[in-house]
Amino acid sequence: MIVVMKVGSPEAEINRITDELSSWGLTPEKIVGRHKVVIGLVGETADLDPLHIQEFSPWIEQVLRVEQPYKRASRQFRHGEPSDVIVNTPEGPVVFGENQPLVVVAGPCSVENEEMIIETAKRVKAAGARFLRGGAYKPRTSPYAFQGHGESALDLLAAASKASGLGIITEVMDAADLDRIAEVADVIQVGARNMQNFSLLKKVGAQPKPVLLKRGMAATIEDWLMAAEYILASGNSNVILCERGIRTFDRQYTRNTLDLSAIPVLRNLTHLPIMIDPSHGTGWSSYVPSMAKAAIAAGCDSLMIEVHPNPSKALSDGPQSLTPEAFDSLMTELSVVGKAMGRWQEPAVAVA
Ligand code: PEP
Ligand code: MN
Repeated sequence: MIVVMKVGSPEAEINRITDELSSWGLTPEKIVGRHKVVIGLVGETADLDPLHIQEFSPWIEQVLRVEQPYKRASRQFRHGEPSDVIVNTPEGPVVFGENQPLVVVAGPCSVENEEMIIETAKRVKAAGARFLRGGAYKPRTSPYAFQGHGESALDLLAAASKASGLGIITEVMDAADLDRIAEVADVIQVGARNMQNFSLLKKVGAQPKPVLLKRGMAATIEDWLMAAEYILASGNSNVILCERGIRTFDRQYTRNTLDLSAIPVLRNLTHLPIMIDPSHGTGWSSYVPSMAKAAIAAGCDSLMIEVHPNPSKALSDGPQSLTPEAFDSLMTELSVVGKAMGRWQEPAVAVA
């Protein structure tokens, strides 16, 4: 952090400020220029509020942060190296990371019944997905909309995992359900609407299952990384970031604006793996393939795609859900881009 003093600041005032900052355990380094004095602060500044320091003296012109406010989520924290998130699934570990093959997560928005979730699981598995997604607890804008089948849907996800061998990703909305969800989920999802539910972030951070943290619909990249920091600071280092589109002014043609520039930006700022969700990102199944291919080309580590056996009958998010057939074709297209990017692993061929 750097404290810039106003032109003509009295020496005594500068000394008073450096003494105060020293008493906080920081090492102030005074740099005297031709017109201005600047005080560099060496030490643990992540939890300091620049506005608080600004209030020390009317002679302070501005206080600038040079380090990121997120520490554990920052790329520097791992000396520039990306981190791998290793997830145990019934068929062995699957690794999310910058130097790993692309991981595809697919499944319906909501778990509706046993038949549909098992059918979807088998179909997406056969096409090459490694995880089944599906909501048991659904964050719906309207309290009158389908809210998810709750605990009974968790049993169905467990059955679908058993039938397909896929890992399970499902969302927690209420910390009271966390233990029960963690029994079934291999990755626990925190949805866009809960990205800044700090007490929930602390709780998912204090349990051992990896966490998928979706970007809030009006969250800046810094807000999002600070939310990840809560999970990391609570002791869980296995966090995957998922861009799912941000609020757009054009609600007529797309549901959200999928921010693909988040991929290279996050790559610079953080070591955490990056997932893209073009289904919620666009809101329309016909736009999903273009954005999924673009996301791989932009360097994402994972994709989340909504797939439903009969999208027109889906209880939630039908318009953005692919049929299993469309998902098969998409995976063929993705393999072309994935191979070009050196990020494609052919699905293991089942031995009869
Ligand atoms: C979901 O993945 O089902 C979901 C509700 O997503 P989001 O939190 O991104 O809206
Ligand atoms: Mn959905």
